[in-house]
Amino acid sequence: MSSSHVARHLEEVRQRIAKAAADASRDASSVTLLAVSKTFPAEDVRAAFNAGQRAFGENYVQEAVAKIAGLADLRSEIEWHFIGPLQSNKTKVVSENFDWVHSVDRLKIAERLNEQRPDGSPRLNVCLQINVSGEDSKSGIAPDDALALAHQIAALPRLHLRGLMAIPEPAATLDEQRAPHRRLREIMDTLRADGLELDTLSMGMSADIEAAILEGATMVRIGTAIFGARDYSH
Ligand SMILES: *Cc1c(COP(=O)(O)O)cnc(C)c1O
Repeated sequence: MSSSHVARHLEEVRQRIAKAAADASRDASSVTLLAVSKTFPAEDVRAAFNAGQRAFGENYVQEAVAKIAGLADLRSEIEWHFIGPLQSNKTKVVSENFDWVHSVDRLKIAERLNEQRPDGSPRLNVCLQINVSGEDSKSGIAPDDALALAHQIAALPRLHLRGLMAIPEPAATLDEQRAPHRRLREIMDTLRADGLELDTLSMGMSADIEAAILEGATMVRIGTAIFGARDYSH
């Protein structure tokens, strides 16, 4: 996609965020836009960067690490977020290359990220991925397990537990979209009431930004609406 398209789409997404925030009587600055660049080349990330975007999300470790290396000149200004499923054998490269991981769903993965975080790096920001749709096939932990796991992860010194992430099932209406987002916010409220200091609700994608912001999202993860439809054939 041409850089002017990326810039225009980015501006449209910012407008959607501003409108949804206004509808929710929230300050638009309370919602961080994470641009999900998976499957798109480094040039598209650079175009978004030149249009003012600073936080980027990636799902596939190998693709992401190559892209991060290709954009090394921007490394100190870009925040890289890992948002995809994470296997044990990939934790080291993720812990060494990313600033955030949104998809932590097991203590073992968190412990490895903690052990493998390089000396001298700031703490790795992490979110617990919660399965709010209740489907067996989706990743994420059951809501009932969130509190215990959150306390265990909060104790790991090289991680900074920031909050919760979810990928709700697609739904047609605004009300249907809001329900799982509300569920995630309620789980976060429960964890905070139990003494955990959390500030991040990572929810909302291209199709349900508005529902997520109405329910309190602080970080929306947007791919298609910025970069276009993904092509997985390569
Ligand atoms: C791909 C992806 C997104 C972006 O989805 P779009 O519908 O393209 O905005 C957000 N979050 C996660 C976890 C993803 O894998």
